[in-house]
Amino acid sequence: MEKRLANEDNYPPSNGAKAMKTALITGISGQDGAYLSQLLLAKGYRVAGLVRRSSNAEKAVERLRWLGLEREVGLVDGDLTDLSSLIRVLAKLRPDEVYNLGAQSFVALSWQQPILTGEVTGMGAFNMLEAIRLLEMKPRFYQASSSEMYGLVQAPLQSETTPFYPRSPYAVSKLAAHWITVNYRESFGMHASSGILFNHESPLRGIEFVTRKITDGVARIKLGLATHLDLGNLDAARDWGHARDYVKAMWLMMQQEVPGDYVVATGRSVTIREFCSLAFGHAGLNHQDYVRVNPAFFRPAEVDCLKGDASKARETLGWVPEITLEELAAEMVEADLRRLRQP
Ligand code: GDP
Repeated sequence: MEKRLANEDNYPPSNGAKAMKTALITGISGQDGAYLSQLLLAKGYRVAGLVRRSSNAEKAVERLRWLGLEREVGLVDGDLTDLSSLIRVLAKLRPDEVYNLGAQSFVALSWQQPILTGEVTGMGAFNMLEAIRLLEMKPRFYQASSSEMYGLVQAPLQSETTPFYPRSPYAVSKLAAHWITVNYRESFGMHASSGILFNHESPLRGIEFVTRKITDGVARIKLGLATHLDLGNLDAARDWGHARDYVKAMWLMMQQEVPGDYVVATGRSVTIREFCSLAFGHAGLNHQDYVRVNPAFFRPAEVDCLKGDASKARETLGWVPEITLEELAAEMVEADLRRLRQP
């Protein structure tokens, strides 16, 4: 394993296939990095992922391994906060497509580490775009924007034209990254697109996010490993989709002749309480018997309700979500039961 993380010289050979495209993914160790790798590999891409050198090398490939892909993806050393490392990696790989998914992505943590969040989630996009510009390269660029940018929502249904009102250091940082993507497209004619993705989940979602926290809690309670689950604000509502569906939208944006910005969402919004009901219900449990509200999990400023209008993605990209919230919750609970049953 160590060997695969050493440097870009471990990058997989192209097998001589000339038509093969190369994709560089930042945030390869996250949920979306794993599913996007799976999608691109199935389409015949060579996939490289940017990883920070860390004492816990195992973490970088954990999710790729879950999908059986840890040997298929080349890992290259670099850091979104280090412009020189991005220049080196881009010059070496000469990717056709760059997917900027790297971020400090947990909203609650962004109040504890606002500067780091700004540097990685915000300035990271500046650095990548600037590296591409300085090298005079022409890869297509995807920026992972977020529905959190709508924050204190200015319309009940949010689309590409809804004004933003960020409510956390994370959202402020994502908004800067979003606008610099638009700006580099308009200033330098770059093929730079921004996907405003609403919350998307899966069994690979980090445990710090509420859906995974809930499905992990359900599995623990079901198996007798826990007696209750502490959560924060149960009244917040989110438009949740499945990450496997959402990475398809990313790829579709990159295949368009003209770059642009797209909302990616299901158009259905449910509360945390309702998600609890679905997840506990799948295991034959009543959430009211187990969920406790703990103010420690309340946030300094809350995003109350997100609900996206993905008409543009549907009409232009032909994208529609295929996995329902019920299927998503069931898949996540089943995966957590399996994980916890393992010796
Ligand atoms: P976010 O939309 O990117 O912040 O995704 P999260 O999954 O972290 O949070 C979604 C919503 O769940 C927010 O409105 C949180 O306030 C709410 N929530 C309620 N309890 C919890 C909890 O225990 N953990 C987390 N992460 N969120 C919670």
